[in-house]
Amino acid sequence: MVELCQDKSGINQFMVTNGYLLTPDLAYELKKNLGLKEYQITLDGPPEVHDKRRIKNDGSGTFERILSNIKGILNHDDLKDIVIIIRVNIDNSNRKDFPALLDIIEKEGIKEKIYVYPGHVKSENTTTTCVVHNCLNKREFAEVESEMFRELLKRGFKSLRIPRPRNTCAAVSPHTMVIGPEGEIYKCWMSVGKKEDLIGHLEDNGQCKVENIALYLKWVNFDVLAREKCRNCKILPLCMGGCIYPEIKGEKSRECDSLKFNLEEMIKLVPLFKSVDKKFG
Ligand code: SF4
Repeated sequence: MVELCQDKSGINQFMVTNGYLLTPDLAYELKKNLGLKEYQITLDGPPEVHDKRRIKNDGSGTFERILSNIKGILNHDDLKDIVIIIRVNIDNSNRKDFPALLDIIEKEGIKEKIYVYPGHVKSENTTTTCVVHNCLNKREFAEVESEMFRELLKRGFKSLRIPRPRNTCAAVSPHTMVIGPEGEIYKCWMSVGKKEDLIGHLEDNGQCKVENIALYLKWVNFDVLAREKCRNCKILPLCMGGCIYPEIKGEKSRECDSLKFNLEEMIKLVPLFKSVDKKFG
């Protein structure tokens, strides 16, 4: 696929990973052989928090190894162009621990080499009551989020969330496909492994064969302006309707973007975003 895309307009690759197996040697191999240069790695807080939630089979924690991998990549002479984005999973139980994680990142001397942002932990499965219990609703998260961005920017971290117009979710594009491990085709990465969400299959010659045309059309015909609440929403160009997966499944539409609740606070942070951006060119 890499060779095919390089003949055309090139390929951009991005990996979302827990970072545990992402050693500098592996990152080097992935860059050399596949051109992979951007990673999002999730942390759940400082070690005393992260290691209670992100554990191995034997119950031991993963924080030290993930941090060591990140530092190893950032300090590797041949990996200077690698971009690492740390997503800090935030819920009610760890929201207070965010500054302690930033202290560690600063102490390790990697603050200026990475991006950090708070990520909203949501439950996709309402049967997992302990998760549901700890999740912040969108309004609560919005409040926490703007405080966290203020903290990040005050400390001089590079960050990502400056309010700006977005596109509708890529899944509605006729050309966006998610390819599963068996060559199955879906429109959304939340569908992977769900037979009822299958759109089609990859053929041996690499062509996409769309078999469930009705479902495919449901995705590509999504129109944010057909939703009354979006049509009348003051932040529409900053959101463009958010995640539409539940709607495709015939469920109630997802919660709104946090910017709907913290836009004013986030706009107040724009000069700080800009001054940090300027510092990093
Ligand atoms: S914030 Fe909510 S209402 Fe506004 S555009 Fe996004 S999904 Fe629609």
